This record gives sequence, structure tokens and C-alpha cells, in this order.
Amino acid sequence: MTELFGGPSLPQERRLVTEIPGPGSRALMARKQAAVADGLSTVMPVFARRAGGGVVEDVDGNSFIDFGSGIAVTGVGNSAEAVVSRATAQLTQFTHTCAMVTPYEGYVEVCEELARLTPGDHAKKSLLLNSGAEAVENAVKIARYHTRRQAVVVFDHGYHGRTNLTMGLTAKDMPYKHGFGPFAPEIYRVPLAYPFRWLTGPENCAEEAAAQVVEQITKQVGVGNTAAILVEPVLGEGGFIVPARGFLPRIADFAREHGILFIADEIQTGFCRTGQWFACEDEGLVPDLITTAKGIAGGLPLAAVTGRSEIMDAAHPGGLGGTYGGNPVACAAALGAIETMRELDLPARAREIEGLMRPRLTALAERYPLIGEVRGRGAMLAIELVKPGTKEPDPAATAALAAACHRRGLLVLTTGTYGNVMRFLPPLVIGEDLLREGLDVLAEALATL
Ligand SMILES: *Cc1c(COP(=O)(O)O)cnc(C)c1O
Repeated sequence: MTELFGGPSLPQERRLVTEIPGPGSRALMARKQAAVADGLSTVMPVFARRAGGGVVEDVDGNSFIDFGSGIAVTGVGNSAEAVVSRATAQLTQFTHTCAMVTPYEGYVEVCEELARLTPGDHAKKSLLLNSGAEAVENAVKIARYHTRRQAVVVFDHGYHGRTNLTMGLTAKDMPYKHGFGPFAPEIYRVPLAYPFRWLTGPENCAEEAAAQVVEQITKQVGVGNTAAILVEPVLGEGGFIVPARGFLPRIADFAREHGILFIADEIQTGFCRTGQWFACEDEGLVPDLITTAKGIAGGLPLAAVTGRSEIMDAAHPGGLGGTYGGNPVACAAALGAIETMRELDLPARAREIEGLMRPRLTALAERYPLIGEVRGRGAMLAIELVKPGTKEPDPAATAALAAACHRRGLLVLTTGTYGNVMRFLPPLVIGEDLLREGLDVLAEALATL
């Protein structure tokens, strides 16, 4: 079995048997360069053959410790047992009928789970889609229809996807938006309470940032024009920024007072990643709408908008949908993933991962002034790299550190507005030994810089 299949049965070890990339990956990379658009770049020059638990194995037999989870997707691990068994069973029954033509139970069951699991005990409904960007697009459609207002407020450092509307909602020019405009109108960007980089210091950050947001929406956008405020409760691509405590509750209160919908984009933070089912729970936020994707289905493409029934029901019949949204195989996978999260208590597991990782990262930060800050929550942790003694971002050192990790068999991702954040997103089912070994590799790589 272990010779043939990935998933939980894959040997859980770091193993380097060729140079990186090896000959198999180099040959495939040449084919990729000839056949795949250059715009699709890759973090590591190796091609995957199998993956499971806490490792990704390449076509040359090298095995990497996985600190990326395919960008926060495989929280339950690759090819998790319940995901494979449920999706396989569904594959043999039917692969597609279209939920808009003849619906099926799995779609409804996923929506029932979303109503149970997402924050708030109000009546909720959901709409299923294929990707995170599509979920955000639909959340905006629904918010505009319900409020009969058009403006959408988003934040500095925010990321919401790569379609035209969601590129407009995203903050960062390169690589996400550059050259792809024009973008949709009625998008307004406001400051984010980013403690590490708040000019007057982290103590005043929540209050001052919230005051600026309120002023900008009131004076520039107009509360009567604002349909929604859209925010990631912990920012992902922006650099794993945890907004200063108190900031988001203030924004949510302001939104409620003025009939503006508060939309939480939990596409990266959702489904146990931050140590709770959803990151909003940390400060008791109850969003009107919530978007989910990534971790929801153990690697199969599925996304959702979940929200207050009266808002979700606003649009006319036929106004929402899509050919593949809520594909039956993806729904079966989601039910298997959710079952796994419950059975293994993955929110608790994410907190344990933080308990193990944060002290090690903090110790590294004390030793290496290159690390300006350790931050994040649960199994969504990061280090921000700066020129020692300053807060000047050091993207070159970040890239060098990532490459040094990759060469040693640790799969890590970088991120951030300034390209100077190394983020850690291990599968929540990763073994403790691998987690420790991954941190050892990181320490070794840091020592070489
Ligand atoms: C990844 C991500 C998206 C986009 O999801 P896709 O499935 O890539 O379209 C949107 N919002 C956040 C917060 C994300 O992390």
C-alpha cells in the first residue's frame, strides 16, 4: 500500500535522495515551460507524486515536510481517509447533474453543516461555488441586492482573489493586479490596524485605525451608499496580519449601526486553521455573511457564501448559481473533511501546533534580529523579516530563507505586501516529530543567511 498510494499511509519522513530539483522534476519543468502559461509560477521547482499527513513526495522520491498545505487547503491532510471514501463513493453514483437542474442531498447537507458551524445562532442559508474568488463575488452580489447600495469597503493589505471584481478588492499591485485593469468601480480601501507597522505604535493602533475607517466611510464613501465592509479576520496574502484587538469589533458595530453588511472572508482562516472553527470566534464577531473555501473540502474545489437567511434570500430565483457550484463529489469530500475535523478535534490540534511552534519561533526571533515579528494564530503563523534594527522589509532575505528551507526538504511559503513574510500553514494532522524537525530545518536555514 505505502508504495502505491499517498494519503495517510505515506511514510512520514523528510527524505532527500537527489539534488533539488531532481531529474524527473527538471524534465517535467521543461514540459511545463513549453505547455503552461508563464503567468502560472511555482513556489518550488519540484513536481508532486504523492502527498499525505505532513509530507509531499516528489517524482524523484524526495519527501518534503509540508508547512504549506497547498495554501491552507489540506488541513485534514492530503487524501484524508474520510474524504477519499466519501468522494469515491459519490464518484461511482454520479459525478454531476447540476444543482440548478436536479439537486442532490450532499449539497443540502454541506449547507446544513455550514449553518451549524459558522458563528452566530441566527437562521442561516448558504450558496455553494467553485472557488474562493467566486464566493467573494457572490457575497458582493448578495450584499448589493439586499442593501440596494453599491459601495464595498475593503482594507489595506487585503486579498480576495484574482477575478476582475476580486482583483479590485485586493490591495496588492504586483503580482495580483499589475497590468490587468481596469477594475470594477465602487470599491473603497481603508486603513487596517496592522500593529507592527502602525506609525504611532501598536498600543494606539486599534482605536486610531478604527477612527480613520469610520471617518473615511462617513465622509468619503457615505454610509448610505455602503453595501458592505469586507475583511479577512486574519489577513492571509497581506502577511498573516492579526488586526489589533478591538479593531474588528468596532468596525462590525459601526457596520451594524448603519445597515452596512459585515462580511468576513474566512477563505484562508476558516475550518479550524486558527485554532477555532472560524477566526471570527476569537473576538466574538458574528458576520452577516461569511465566505469559505480552501480548507472546506480536503483539497477538492468547493466554496461557499453563508449568511443570515433574510440576506441570502434577497436575490430573485435564478439570480445566483453556476454550472459546477457545489459539485456532488466536492460536497462528499467536504462532508468527509468536516467529519475528520470533528473526530480529530482539529481546532484543538491547531492550538497545539501553535503551542509547539510559537515558542520556537520566538526564540529564533530573539537570536536573529532579522525576524522583526512573530505573529498569527493557531496553525497560521508567520515571521516578518526586516533589516536588523529597523522595520525596513527584507524581501531578499525572505526569498533566500525560503530557498534554503526548500533545499533542505522543508516546503514553506512566503507572502505579504512587502514580500517579507514567511508563513507556516502545516496540515493540522502533521505529526509532532515532523513539526519539530521542520522547525529544526528552519533554524538551520536561518543560520546560513
Ligand atoms: C485564497 C483566497 C481567496 C481566493 O480563493 P481562490 O479559491 O483562490 O479563488 C480569497 N480570499 C482569501 C482570504 C484567500 O486566502
